[in-house]
Amino acid sequence: MDDIIIVGAGIGGLTLGLALHQAGIPCRILESVPEIKPIGVGINLLPHATKELAALGLEDQLARVAIETKDATFFNRFGQLIYQEPLGRAAGYDHPQFSIHRGDLQMVLLDAFRARVGADRLMTGCHCIGVEQDDAGVTATFADGPSGTNCFAIRARAAIACDGINSAIRKQFFPDEGEPRYSGINMWRGVTRWKPMLSGASMVRAGWLSHGKMVIYPIRAADSDGLQLINWVAEIETPTYRKRDWNRAGSLGDFIDAFADWHFDWLDVPAFIRAADSVLEFPMVDQDPLPRWSFGRVTLLGDAAHPMVPRGSNGAGQAILDARTLTAALLAHDDPTAAFASYENQRLEATTRIVLTNRSNPPDAILREVFQRTNDRPFAAIDDVISREELVALSDGYKRIAGYSKEALRVS
Ligand SMILES: Cc1cc2nc3c(=O)[nH]c(=O)nc-3n(C[C@H](O)[C@H](O)[C@H](O)COP(=O)(O)OP(=O)(O)OC[C@H]3O[C@@H](n4cnc5c(N)ncnc54)[C@H](O)[C@@H]3O)c2cc1C
Repeated sequence: MDDIIIVGAGIGGLTLGLALHQAGIPCRILESVPEIKPIGVGINLLPHATKELAALGLEDQLARVAIETKDATFFNRFGQLIYQEPLGRAAGYDHPQFSIHRGDLQMVLLDAFRARVGADRLMTGCHCIGVEQDDAGVTATFADGPSGTNCFAIRARAAIACDGINSAIRKQFFPDEGEPRYSGINMWRGVTRWKPMLSGASMVRAGWLSHGKMVIYPIRAADSDGLQLINWVAEIETPTYRKRDWNRAGSLGDFIDAFADWHFDWLDVPAFIRAADSVLEFPMVDQDPLPRWSFGRVTLLGDAAHPMVPRGSNGAGQAILDARTLTAALLAHDDPTAAFASYENQRLEATTRIVLTNRSNPPDAILREVFQRTNDRPFAAIDDVISREELVALSDGYKRIAGYSKEALRVS
C-alpha cells in the first residue's frame, strides 16, 4: 500500500520506475502485454533525454547498442544538399544524441529495472481498465487483456498512467475526447541492412510531405558484412488512414512510386526501400493538448499525457523528462496530490508548446521553406533560396521550444 503503481512498461514507465527506485521511492509496474518484446523501429534520444538516462547510469549500456548520431542533413527530392549541422557531442553538447531501435532502448531499461528494482516488481499481462480513489489511496483494476476478463484490483498510494497513446486512464478522465487526431500524413516505416551512408551516423531528412519525404538514420553499428541496420520513414500526405496499430504491416506498392526517381550519389532510395526487412504502416497522429493531467492521486505521463506527431524526435525524450520531473516532485512532497500538481505545473505548458510546434514548425520546416521558395524545382545555389542564418534560426528555434538548446541543458 506504500507503493506507487506505474501503469505501462514502455519508455516512460520503465524510466520512471528506475528514477523512483534511484530516489528511494517504492514502486511497481503493471504492463498490459503478456511478454515484453523488443517491438518498434527507430527512435532518437536527444541530449536532454540522454542527460537524464546518464543520470540513471545507463549511458554505457545505450552506447553499446545505439548509434551516436553526428549530424542532421537535409536534402530536396533532387538530392541537393540544403543544410547540415552537427548533433549531440559533435555539436558541443555534454551528452550524445543516440539513434536507437526502440526495442533495444526498451530492453536496456527493462534489464536495468529487473536487475535494480527486482523482476517481481514488474507484472505483465495486467491491462488496466480503470482507477478509483479515496482520501487514503487508489484502487486500480486490471484484467488479463483489453477485453476485460479475470479482473483483479490493486491498492496503492498513487498511480501514474504511462499507458501510451491509447491510454485507458486518459480515456477515463476525458471520455469524450475521441480518437487520436490524424495529421493528414501517413507513414511507412522499416529497417534495411545497408552499407553506411554519408558520415555513417547522419540523420537525413529529404523531400517534402506533399510529394514524399524520407527520414533515414542508422540505429545499429555495422555487422560482420559491414552493413548497418538503417531506419527509414516515408511520409506522404494521404487523405485517408487506418487506425494506428504499432504492428500493422505496410505494402511497398502504396508508397514506393513517390520515390521512384530518387537515385542519389549517396543512396539509391528505391533499391534501399525494396531491401527492407519488413515494412510497417502507421498514420501520423497526436491529440489536442489537455487542460490538466493530474486528478488527486492519479496523473498521466508520456504519450498518455501529450502524444505528439513524430517530427521532432521528442516523443520518447519528453516521456523521459516527465519521469525526471515527477520523481523530483514526489521527493519534494510527501502528499502525492501536491506532487502531481507540481509536476503538471512544470510540464504541461512546456509539452503543449512542443505538441503544437510539431504540427506547424518542426525541424523539417527547413524542407517546407525550400520546397515553397523553389516551387519544388532544383536550385542553382542554396544561398539564392535561403540564407544560412535563416536555416540556423529554424533549427535553433525548435531546440529552444523542445528544451534542448545547449544553454538550457547547461543550466538545468
Ligand atoms: C509496441 C510499440 C512500438 C512502438 N514503436 C515506435 C517506433 O517504432 N518509433 C517511435 O518513434 N515510437 C514508437 N512507439 C512509441 C514510443 O515508444 C512513444 O511515443 C514514446 O517512447 C513515449 O513512451 P510512452 O512510455 O509514453 O509510451 P509507449 O512507449 O507507447 O508505452 C506504453 C506502454 O503501456 C502499455 N499499455 C498500454 N495500455 C495499457 C493498459 N491499459 N494497461 C497497462 N499497460 C498498458 C503498452 O503495452 C506499452 O508498453 C512505440 C510504442 C509501442 C507500444
